[in-house]
Amino acid sequence: MNILEKKKIKNLHEFDNHHLVIRLDDPKVGLKSFVAFHKNLKILPSFGATRFWKYKSKTEAIRDALRLSKLMSYKSALAGLKYGGAKATIIQNNKFPKAKILEAYAEKLNGLHGKFITGTDVGLDLKDLRKMRKKSKYLVGLKSNPEKYTAVGLFFAVETICRKMCINNNLKDLTFSIQGVGKVGHKFLRIIYNKVSKIYISDTDNKRLKFIHKLFPKTIIIKPNKIQKQNVDVYMPCALSHALNKQTVKELNCRAIIGSANNQLKSKDIADEIYRRGIFYAPDYVVNAGGLISVVDEYENKNFNARRIEKKVKIIKKTLEEIIRRTIKEKRSPARVADEMAEKIISKMK
Ligand code: NAD
Repeated sequence: MNILEKKKIKNLHEFDNHHLVIRLDDPKVGLKSFVAFHKNLKILPSFGATRFWKYKSKTEAIRDALRLSKLMSYKSALAGLKYGGAKATIIQNNKFPKAKILEAYAEKLNGLHGKFITGTDVGLDLKDLRKMRKKSKYLVGLKSNPEKYTAVGLFFAVETICRKMCINNNLKDLTFSIQGVGKVGHKFLRIIYNKVSKIYISDTDNKRLKFIHKLFPKTIIIKPNKIQKQNVDVYMPCALSHALNKQTVKELNCRAIIGSANNQLKSKDIADEIYRRGIFYAPDYVVNAGGLISVVDEYENKNFNARRIEKKVKIIKKTLEEIIRRTIKEKRSPARVADEMAEKIISKMK
């Protein structure tokens, strides 16, 4: 384990006075990874999933870990959880077997003695999790099905926003466009498929797209660069970061944006632009907190209880109601309101 010196990372735009960034390497199996801890919580662990991605450089992987760990702190705070945010990024290395890289990574996690509790993010699935869990008890998500509860949280958000923002009270009339039909997109489709009017889907992975379309044949396939242009009630970015940028914002043709992807906004002023256009942007870390809530429940309890988790995920509705109330009253973007609410909580965390 290598602790990265603050002076080497403090000039990165994503650095938010993070408590600690460490490097976990094992050259024998091609493991290169980073774990960023956003806040220093002396006794409690920090939570955040692990991303396995084709990063072009170590700096890119560090920046992603910094950005995503901060977001995890915000997510935890507004989900009413007492834990801090962290995130790990592993650099994909095709010269070595993925299984070996992941096993070595899981073994390295043991050296953190439970200060970091993690699961799977983009690039990792249940099979990977099972392999890693054999090497370390600090991996969660095997029992609690985080993708499912992320989707459940998104559904609660859709219900709350469509009702409170007068988009549509009747679920059966709603139209959706979903960018990315991976693990969360799939679980969300299972919830809404037979309940709503029309669903457009896109994915850059054609095999995946065909697989999903076979399961949900009434969905309409759209090219990835056109998905944000569809005239729908709800646009759902459920792929990677920065779906909402200067270009795509001009192309939006929806009434609300409610997606699972982390860091959807390229920059905060994009949220202001979306607000000016009269579109409701649901802050990503508020509406995608269902997965985190479910893995924290798994960590805290010996038994799995679906009803208990679902009840906890309902906090998303309450938080959104408060964000909507303040957005209307203060006449500013929901993203600004949510950030302020989260920062107030984080500033009191020890
Ligand atoms: P995933 O890797 O299973 O799915 C992502 C999908 O998006 C893939 O099928 C990929 O091919 C597709 N994709 C990538 N770029 C695209 C593009 N430009 N256009 C269309 N499709 C594209 O990941 P996931 O677990 O479903 O997570 C999706 C997003 O939600 C990620 O940003 C993740 O960080 C976030 N998230 C996930 C969870 C969870 O429980 N899995 C929880 C909170 C947030």
